[in-house]
Amino acid sequence: MALIVQKYGGTSVGSTDRIKNVAKRVAKARAEGHDVVVVVSAMSGETNRLVALAHEMQEFPDPRELDVILATGEQVTIGLLAMALKNIGVEARSYTGWQVAVKTDSAHTKARIDHIDDENIRADLKQGKVVIVAGFQGVTADGDISTLGRGGSDTSAVALAAALKADECQIYTDVDGVYTTDPRVVPEARRMSTISFEEMLELASLGSKVLQIRSVEFAGKYKVRLRVLSSLQDGGEGTLITFEEDENMEKAAVQGIAFDKNQARINVRGVPDKPGIAYQILGTVADANIEVDMIIQNVGDEGTTDFSFTVPRGDYKPTLELINGLKESLGATEIDGDDGVCKVSIVGLGMRSHAGVAAKMFRTLAEEGINIQMISTSEIKVSVLLDEKYMELATRVLHKAFELDKA
Ligand code: ASP
Ligand code: MG
Repeated sequence: MALIVQKYGGTSVGSTDRIKNVAKRVAKARAEGHDVVVVVSAMSGETNRLVALAHEMQEFPDPRELDVILATGEQVTIGLLAMALKNIGVEARSYTGWQVAVKTDSAHTKARIDHIDDENIRADLKQGKVVIVAGFQGVTADGDISTLGRGGSDTSAVALAAALKADECQIYTDVDGVYTTDPRVVPEARRMSTISFEEMLELASLGSKVLQIRSVEFAGKYKVRLRVLSSLQDGGEGTLITFEEDENMEKAAVQGIAFDKNQARINVRGVPDKPGIAYQILGTVADANIEVDMIIQNVGDEGTTDFSFTVPRGDYKPTLELINGLKESLGATEIDGDDGVCKVSIVGLGMRSHAGVAAKMFRTLAEEGINIQMISTSEIKVSVLLDEKYMELATRVLHKAFELDKA
């Protein structure tokens, strides 16, 4: 008998019929003798609908009130799932975030979990009940409802699994595991039976949407055994995120490819090549709470330098305005940019011991006539910034070149 946390995403609870299916799956785990805690998302489309409603009322919705609205989505699903379980004879009890309580900081719409009280849940489990918890939400020290950022139910589930010291946290979604890349772009993409925690963390931060990045960070911190599975098919072992490197296995240099269109590039040209320029540019952007991703600085002609960086596409216009405001004090000759770019990244632990991985990536792109605008690397990834029209082509040719279609 094990303690299992199961999380079901929006598509998995997208209709009352699907919720009935989830109930059957939960009942099965219960019948096998496991203690089960279920975390659910809002029904698919619901959170978007709530966000849109808030925007009809205010251009920049008040964050505290926005959280009051957003948290209703998950509250509906927990009630429906509890009913579905009762209908098939399984004792169950639903909890909102504040009822648990999932205690968070007060950063509305992107709160972080500080602590989870587990007494209520443990007491119910002891009585043989299935506990159903609303994902994505918590409560601040002031007693206000908070939410954890889009996709935050994954983090709720992993945090609960950590707090309860669960044997496994199972993330049920509309795909049957983590793939070498998005199979909608590359039909030959393969499901991986395991992936290392570090690779998963990179893929999540580079645009793979399978898991919210914070949930992966949480799993790493508390060593939560995490598995991604399909809720739409029976059987299947999904993908297990592992913490040990498998010594016996010769790791391929590249395990997965991620891509992301949420990118924009800003260029600051002809600034004097002197100390403090990077700080002046990036400090200003950071003060505006805008996240900078890739950065390059080139020495240009005669004591000047060109400086380029990327930001999320939604922050393109405000960033351009900010930097234009600095143009004179920077002494820049030109400020421009492009919000039609994308980032394509190859990820693999094996890169540490394989030489020439980046060169192979660049050659593959060159052979297709794809121009690389920026490059950034870490020990286990190489990312390139491209014109967005090349995103799918680049992903396909790289998938083939690194033989990710072959097991
Ligand atoms: N319902 C929230 C969202 O759509 C949280 C989640 O599904 O994980 O972002
Ligand atoms: Mg999700």
